[in-house]
Amino acid sequence: MGLDIVHTLPKRGLLIGGEWRQARSGRDFLTLNPATGSPIASIPEAGVEDVDAAVASARRAIDEGAWGRMTGADRARVLRRLADLVERHRERFVELEAIDAGKPLAASRRQDVPAAIDCLAYYSGWADKIHGEVVPARADALTYVTRKPVGVVAAITPWNFPLMNAVWKIAPALAAGCAVVLKPAELTPLSSLLLGELAIEAGLPAGALNILPGFGTVAGQALIEHPGVDKISFTGSPAVGKHIMGVAARDCKHVTLELGGKSPNIVFADADLQAAANASSSGVFFNAGQVCSSGTRIFVQRAVYERFLELFADRASRLKLGDPFDPETTMGPVISEKQRDRVMSYVETGKREGAALIAGGEALDRPGYFIAPTIFADADNLMTIAREEIFGPVATVIPFDEPDAAIRDANDSPFSLAAAVWTRDVTRAHVMADRLRAGTVWINTYGPTDTRLPWGGMGGESGVGRDLGRAALDNYTEQKTVWLQLRA
Ligand code: NAD
Repeated sequence: MGLDIVHTLPKRGLLIGGEWRQARSGRDFLTLNPATGSPIASIPEAGVEDVDAAVASARRAIDEGAWGRMTGADRARVLRRLADLVERHRERFVELEAIDAGKPLAASRRQDVPAAIDCLAYYSGWADKIHGEVVPARADALTYVTRKPVGVVAAITPWNFPLMNAVWKIAPALAAGCAVVLKPAELTPLSSLLLGELAIEAGLPAGALNILPGFGTVAGQALIEHPGVDKISFTGSPAVGKHIMGVAARDCKHVTLELGGKSPNIVFADADLQAAANASSSGVFFNAGQVCSSGTRIFVQRAVYERFLELFADRASRLKLGDPFDPETTMGPVISEKQRDRVMSYVETGKREGAALIAGGEALDRPGYFIAPTIFADADNLMTIAREEIFGPVATVIPFDEPDAAIRDANDSPFSLAAAVWTRDVTRAHVMADRLRAGTVWINTYGPTDTRLPWGGMGGESGVGRDLGRAALDNYTEQKTVWLQLRA
């Protein structure tokens, strides 16, 4: 299986002020195929001067350019055209995510690309409906509140959902009238560059979207420190998220942080066990486990524990690990050698701490960074593999007796992104949803998200703020109160 790379690759450059440029330093970096470890393409590497130029062009787009003069209806049309263009080029995106991020073709056909199109279309619908209100505070005054774009937005994205995460930030920011400087993850820049190409074709004015492929510690750092940036919207690791919050505090930039997860997935004895086992398998092994909301801590009520393990392990054994371009493949590689080694070190820790390895536990002896779906049973919530985010295909299964114990252990985690409950008891389902500390709770399913529904953590290692839904528009707008005195 292969790819006509030349035909599919996007422009390789820095998108600044509506033009494709080389890096000022003249430097390039290589992006690699995680299924083989081989280079795909070399990409200009943004440095500090390029960040300055991109932020200046974003500011000009708002203050002096066509972008700042556009109405909400104009912005809606541009976003709609971009949604249509992504739709038209959907197979190119699917191929780029396969070669650059190791995603099986079917996975991004089903999830990443349709979700990106839906997100662009949804915020296109909002662009001309962002308005203020008259709040009659006093009889002798006309008092009203308007919403203004927050300004220049730095969007910094990770490698696990490169296109989708970029669109989650760009679409609401542009709908609100902000200008964006996007720094995609250095491991997966390709789909963001194609998005930039299509944004120009859609008629997005110069400077409204700037794209700076490059490294976190160089371009990313320069961007978060830049005084011309008003808002940082970040998805990535908790360590970098905390660092960003600290840097942003220096001049009180707005910050949204979508960080990590160690999500509890709680299976009660009265659940549809087969459905729970199937969804728990995709809940933890989808995208080779590199999902912030992976259901990595699976709590199972003792009465069905053994049966669940059988069904779960059976389902996991059916996953077909392999070349992302093979239509039979259901699980691809992890993103890099570093990530593979990190995941494998957690596997060793799990064994050392006494969890029972009942499936997987090894990296495949072939080029690329493949790890077999791995299941630890008989674990407890205090083990390292139950506390730290592994970000690979590793499940930790923990038995429990009483519902209160499940809630206590589920909430005993520094993460707070998502959780799931499997039960046929409707009251119990709602009680659990109420008591679980998580930004999203799924009942009798695992993992769906939708553009219309807010997404984010409840603090700690999962971060603060929300992407998606109407809530995301608040990230990109400021409220302004106007008080007109009618009578002295
Ligand atoms: P990462 O934090 O290493 O990198 C994320 C981005 O931050 C990259 O673009 C990187 O270049 C940039 N970056 C790194 N250092 C920087 C710095 N000093 N200043 C500015 N930018 C910097 O994360 P990752 O390893 O690419 O992604 C995996 C992590 O992302 C996991 O922890 C995962 O849970 C999290 N994630 C969360 C969500 C969510 O919605 N909550 C979604 C996807 C991924």
